[in-house]
Amino acid sequence: MNHEEAFVSIRNIQSSCKSRIQLVRIPLAKVFPANPEILEGAADLVQLSYLNEPAVLHNLACRYGKEEIYTKAGSVLIAVNPFKRVSLYTHDFVETYSKPTNEDLAPHVYSTMAYAYKAMMQDGVNQSIIISGESGAGKTETAKIAMQYLAAVGGGGGIEKEILETNPILEAFGNAKTLRNDNSSRFGKLIDIYFDGSGKICGAKIETYLLEKSRVVQQVKGERSYHIFYQLCAGASDNLREQIHLLPAKDYLYLNQSSCLFIDNVDDSFDFVAVQRAMKAVQISEEYQNKVFAMLAAILWLGNVTFSVIDDENHVEVDDNEALSCTADLLKCSKTRLMEALTTRKIRAGHEDIVQKLNYSQAVDSRDALAKAIYAGLFDWLVEWINKSFESARNFTDRFITILDIYGFESFVKNGFEQLCINYANERLQQYSNLHLFKLEQEEYTSEGIDWTRVEFKDNQDCLELFEKKPLGLISLLDEECTFPKGTDYTFAEKIKKHLDGTSCFQAERGASFRVKHYAGEVTYETMGFLEKNKDTLNFDFLRLLASCESPLPQIFATKLEEDLQQRTDPSRKNSSESNKLSISTKFKGQLCRLMQRLGDTEPHFVRCIKPNTLQRPDLFEEDLVLQQLRSCGVLEIVRISRAGYPTRLSHKNFANRYGFLLPTTSLLQNDSLNKCVAILHQFNIPPEMYQMGFTKIFLRAGQIGSLEDSRLRT
Ligand code: ATP
Ligand code: MG
Repeated sequence: MNHEEAFVSIRNIQSSCKSRIQLVRIPLAKVFPANPEILEGAADLVQLSYLNEPAVLHNLACRYGKEEIYTKAGSVLIAVNPFKRVSLYTHDFVETYSKPTNEDLAPHVYSTMAYAYKAMMQDGVNQSIIISGESGAGKTETAKIAMQYLAAVGGGGGIEKEILETNPILEAFGNAKTLRNDNSSRFGKLIDIYFDGSGKICGAKIETYLLEKSRVVQQVKGERSYHIFYQLCAGASDNLREQIHLLPAKDYLYLNQSSCLFIDNVDDSFDFVAVQRAMKAVQISEEYQNKVFAMLAAILWLGNVTFSVIDDENHVEVDDNEALSCTADLLKCSKTRLMEALTTRKIRAGHEDIVQKLNYSQAVDSRDALAKAIYAGLFDWLVEWINKSFESARNFTDRFITILDIYGFESFVKNGFEQLCINYANERLQQYSNLHLFKLEQEEYTSEGIDWTRVEFKDNQDCLELFEKKPLGLISLLDEECTFPKGTDYTFAEKIKKHLDGTSCFQAERGASFRVKHYAGEVTYETMGFLEKNKDTLNFDFLRLLASCESPLPQIFATKLEEDLQQRTDPSRKNSSESNKLSISTKFKGQLCRLMQRLGDTEPHFVRCIKPNTLQRPDLFEEDLVLQQLRSCGVLEIVRISRAGYPTRLSHKNFANRYGFLLPTTSLLQNDSLNKCVAILHQFNIPPEMYQMGFTKIFLRAGQIGSLEDSRLRT
């Protein structure tokens, strides 16, 4: 064999893990050492002697083929989406994982939850389960499986059923079919589940993050708006249908423009019944449910409102038709006021308000803004209601397990403001998990007397600073641009290029684009729509209209109006045609900051979900796709940290027993485990930088156990 090439027998990994042997010629640089057979399909990647990417992939593929969808990567749980029912969640499994045992149980969400539950009850430390992964990877399903486990072990009081019923409600209102996932969450969610002193569930609290509002008025071809709209159109009773003037989904512009009204294997009318049942479970009376449905119908009718141009300047009036009457009727406001609010805008000039007429595209935008605001208000109202329904039951306990199901890192061909926020959230979480995982390593090294300073660690502080620095960070600069009357997406792009180009994670791109080097990869953002989305303004007249009309849920808007009025009376504020409030990005930053503090007070457990294929199909493991996720969700980073450290840990005794027989007979006279260990290391010429001897364990660098294992098997 020459030095540049190697003949290697390649195992073609099939998802079933059946191997096919083939002989190929490959450059030596591309050959990685394979792991000994005993490590094939190891339950913990840290057990692998060789932590190269192909080895990790091969391991996951093998396990996946055997329906072992869970694998540990040190303290992190990896969950590969099976896209089919797997028999891992039966009552027997709950029993097995909830009982104390000495056995090493296979990795499972249940085992993570069992550990968390026990730690919370015994040590009194609150716990958090942090679930990440890209769209369709299985975060929401994993969160539900985790909740179901807690309901099974901490249930009995009845409230656990109500808590589980929040899932169908939030999924109906916050999930939608996208090109990547038929049930994609379009918001982030944190749920705290509270326990009493005896370990029974006694309450819950939900916090949501950044709902994607734009979906209400517009969707990409092949995607849908929020499930609840289609469920309502398909499942409403005749009576309700009449009451809220409901048409079939195909007749509403907000639903029919994306040429996608149905989802394979989903029965919207069946799901509607489930949502109604769930709403009842969280004490939303039928009367109130119908008020919610009336608001949804109002949004749909609003989308059908049309305008006609009335003069040379493209000014418009609202067409007085069924759509307008139905909207006004459902919002319970006067038709004239609605027409006025849709076609004009008041602007403050000096001390006077002047009325400006809107042109066609402005009127359409204002109509859509109203629809989005009503939907977002409704969503907030639901979450608030659910929280109130649990409040009384919570009983002031401060023992909880919190589960975070947040959107994963996103990188598309076109990336906008939403992706920037989502990826910023992921940077924050990445920093948190890195610090934590690194800290864990350190703690074990310290307790074993190991010199851990040799473990290098790279953080993503630079990228976080790019977002958060004041005054010259992305968020501050965006907020500033939003306050300039003449600021546009383009001037924002110019500004950040001027101030940020040259900083380590930022790169100016052509036109109004810029590039950010995230921990998970580089993403190019287009600034189109940034200012509008960040300001998230609602025409003041709309606010006044919504708060005053006898709409079913005026309190949401009444509060918003009050906040708005307060800010308006602040003379330092200008531009009173729009509501001056915290920008979306600043609000989000605050939310993330509170989230980090909250998680900081808990013992965290990380679950990384992996999507094995883009077709949402069972038994298909696409290696490139998996590899890219392992890289971007930081699994390889954890593995890298482990590689820099000492991933193999064996007690002195185990090590001595396993390899002691390889020693020449003279050395066998050593009967003390520690001395035996030293003799083994010596015998096999393991260099000092490749291991450290702890108080009770021996710590070996990656790959070391492999050569010992080879010798053991040869003997
Ligand atoms: P998004 O970020 O888009 O919300 P997600 O990570 O929350 O995506 P899920 O909605 O949880 O993804 O999962 C997508 C689909 O994958 C589910 O609808 C379900 O069909 C399947 N799935 C995920 N996890 C499992 C599992 N453990 N068992 C069976 N099917 C699963
Ligand atoms: Mg989800």
